[in-house]
Formats: sequence, structure tokens, C-alpha cells
Amino acid sequence: MDQFEIKTTNPEETGNMAMKLAQHLQAGDVITLEGDLGAGKTTFVKGLAKGLGIGRTVNSPTFTIMKEYTDGRLPLYHMDVYRIENSDEDLGFDEFFDGDGVTVVEWAHYIEDQLPEERLDVFIRYIQDNTRSLIFRPKGKRYIKLCKEFFTDDGISD
Ligand code: ADP
Ligand code: MG
Repeated sequence: MDQFEIKTTNPEETGNMAMKLAQHLQAGDVITLEGDLGAGKTTFVKGLAKGLGIGRTVNSPTFTIMKEYTDGRLPLYHMDVYRIENSDEDLGFDEFFDGDGVTVVEWAHYIEDQLPEERLDVFIRYIQDNTRSLIFRPKGKRYIKLCKEFFTDDGISD
């Protein structure tokens, strides 16, 4: 399986990386984020939003499940499904996944059954202090190509 890893040593680096990734995104793209509390998922989304030209402040949508930001190059749908916990109920996520914007889902495994097959899975792992490991696992041709372009052409990979 294609997998790409990058280590960051401070939150700004994580944000900047996500900001650059945003340049490669198009309508209908879906990114999932996994990682413990404090790993850096929301930090990543903040960078992504900045890269899409979103000026509004991005905060964790924990209490609302979904927040949308429409003042950028593409709409950003930011979901945090932590509170849903293994729901089998169809909560209508498809509307966003197939929609006109970029969808980012924190704690996506809670809605595993409802995720599109093709997507970019990102795992953030705490290493120590301010060091994090980010692992990108693209699922499907579109995302493999995206990762190759991002990591190779942008020189992101080590
Ligand atoms: P999550 O959404 O995964 O719970 P947050 O992004 O809200 O995590 O919080 C991550 C915390 O870790 C922030 O306080 C951030 O400043 C800190 N941090 C330290 N080093 C890093 C790093 N390399 N990447 C991302 N966040 C980091
Ligand atoms: Mg968060």
C-alpha cells in the first residue's frame, strides 16, 4: 500500500504542511484524520483552511459535529464525529462527501461505514513534546496521485 510519512517538530510545521496540501485539493475531496486528543488534528485543519484562503477562525466543531466555511477557494466542511460514537444511523454525510467542497473528518473511524471508499486517510501520532508523525494513506487513484504530487513534486517527503 502506498503510504507517505512526514514528521513535524512544531504546530506551525503541521499547519504549513496542511496549507500546502490545500493547493492540491478539489471539490469532492475527503480527508479523514485520526489521532489521540491533542495529536494535532484540528491544527492540521486550521492549516488546510488557511491554504484554501479561508479567513474565518477554525475551531474544533465538537459540539456541533460539523462546521462549514465558505469564504475560501472551495467550501470546507469540518466534521468532528467523536461524539457520534459508532452510529449506524445514516446522518446524511454523503451530501458533503459528494458535494462542492472539501470535507475533513476528525475521528472518522466512528463513522467508518459511512465514509466514501476513496479518500485520504491521515494518521497523526504523538512522538514526543512537539514532534508528531503524520502518515498519509491514500485510498483510490485520485488520492494516490495527489499524494505523489504533493510529496514528490512539492518536495515534502524527507
Ligand atoms: P486534536 O484536534 O488532535 O485533539 P489539536 O490540534 O487541537 O489536536 O491540538 C494539538 C496540540 O498540540 C496543540 O496545542 C498544538 O499546539 C500542540 N502541538 C505541539 N506540537 C505539534 C505538532 N508538531 N503538530 C501539531 N500540533 C502540535
Ligand atoms: Mg480536534
